[in-house]
Amino acid sequence: MPSYYAGTANDAPARPQLTNEERCDVCVVGAGFTGMSAALELAERGYTVIVVEAERVGWGASGRNGGQLVNGYSRRLREVRKHYGEETERAFAEMALEGQAIIRERVARYDIDCDLRVGNGIVAMHHSQMREIEDRVNEWHRHGHDAMRLIGEDEVRDYVNSDRYVGGMFDPLGGHMHSLNYVLGEARALEQLGGRIFEQSRVVSIDRMAKPCVHTADGLVKAETVIVCGNAYLGDAAKDLSSRILPVSSQVIATEVLGEDEAARLIPSDYCIEDIRYIPDYYRRTADNRLLYGGGTVYGGNDPSSIEGKILPELHKTFPHLKGVKIDFAWSGNFALTMTRYPQMGRVSPSVFYSQGDSGHGVTTTQMLGRRLGEAIDGQLSKFDVFEKLPNIPFVGGKLLRVPYCVAGSWYYGLRDRLGL
Ligand SMILES: Cc1cc2nc3c(=O)[nH]c(=O)nc-3n(C[C@H](O)[C@H](O)[C@H](O)COP(=O)(O)OP(=O)(O)OC[C@H]3O[C@@H](n4cnc5c(N)ncnc54)[C@H](O)[C@@H]3O)c2cc1C
Repeated sequence: MPSYYAGTANDAPARPQLTNEERCDVCVVGAGFTGMSAALELAERGYTVIVVEAERVGWGASGRNGGQLVNGYSRRLREVRKHYGEETERAFAEMALEGQAIIRERVARYDIDCDLRVGNGIVAMHHSQMREIEDRVNEWHRHGHDAMRLIGEDEVRDYVNSDRYVGGMFDPLGGHMHSLNYVLGEARALEQLGGRIFEQSRVVSIDRMAKPCVHTADGLVKAETVIVCGNAYLGDAAKDLSSRILPVSSQVIATEVLGEDEAARLIPSDYCIEDIRYIPDYYRRTADNRLLYGGGTVYGGNDPSSIEGKILPELHKTFPHLKGVKIDFAWSGNFALTMTRYPQMGRVSPSVFYSQGDSGHGVTTTQMLGRRLGEAIDGQLSKFDVFEKLPNIPFVGGKLLRVPYCVAGSWYYGLRDRLGL
């Protein structure tokens, strides 16, 4: 079964395979949000860019996700301060809203048709979770993000019409979109600026010389600089990078078309919604008035035996009257988890850059990190340095035990969520 995104995508040309020797200033490995954001940034700055993609543009997490624009990171700002100090916290805070701004800027500039909508909400199921939400809102306000609103039990149903919630925080600077159409729009924009994209061209190795070289089975690209953005799907092309992350699968379903009235009854605000649990449910309306509902995780990146069997019971808990609704699409995708849940960005040699590991919170963050990569290659390193200097801590348990370690951690936090702690 294709994803909702693949099933409703705008027409896109099939790009050629890499079969010859090509040259450019910057070669980007991977045509997801990170790679395309960096590629576009560099093309706008006048660099010649080639993107080499193993499958199709947006084939990875970027073309399969919940489409939720959620400001911030996988970690709270207060955790950033605790781990890395006030200066890093301030830098993270200053960049926290940039990803959504880049999306809005590119949608307008390149006329990208991706159903972009306003607003996201993070909701609480227990009063103890509300205290955490209140704390988060105060934190945002302290950092000047005043648009974020704290909503209590009396008002929450104006945003999302479910009995499950006691309140939440709602951000008009968040939003949601058809993720695959957005990344396809970025690809079209890149080509308009003279960039080139090769599809069905898996990079098998990268020579990390002063002038690096990217090899596929049938071709190669000689460049001044390479950026590796394969994330959870990178595989063996750079084993030192893929060993620093853990692929994690998340599952999503989309209902049949419900009609405008029913879709508006479920989520009157048309904001996208996620709950605040360690492994949250996330859902939203689509432009054609379906409910797109995701959740779950499988550490290691495999699929559960039935995606619908796993996610539909959660959807029913949130909207019990949808029992009997038909599911038209069910799919999954892998994101890259890091041990610290901070993104990893840096250089593996002076001319080979990389970014990976948004830890499930990547729709906005990848846009911002892609811009950081572009700036760094253009000689502006100060904001890039904020991320490059963060330590890359390996997973506890190494390759064999990192999955059971993560499962145990998530079981513990899941139990706390169920007990309302
Ligand atoms: C099901 C799901 C739901 C999610 N929902 C949300 C959400 O609602 N909000 C949010 O903020 N985040 C969400 N995320 C996370 C977000 O989608 C990711 O963080 C983000 O898309 C990562 O983008 P990326 O470009 O780094 O990786 P990807 O999109 O995975 O792109 C990597 C690309 O590199 C290519 N590639 C890999 N190796 C090679 C190679 N050797 N040679 C050539 N090409 C290669 C792959 O084919 C792929 O196209 C979700 C993730 C998943 C899986």
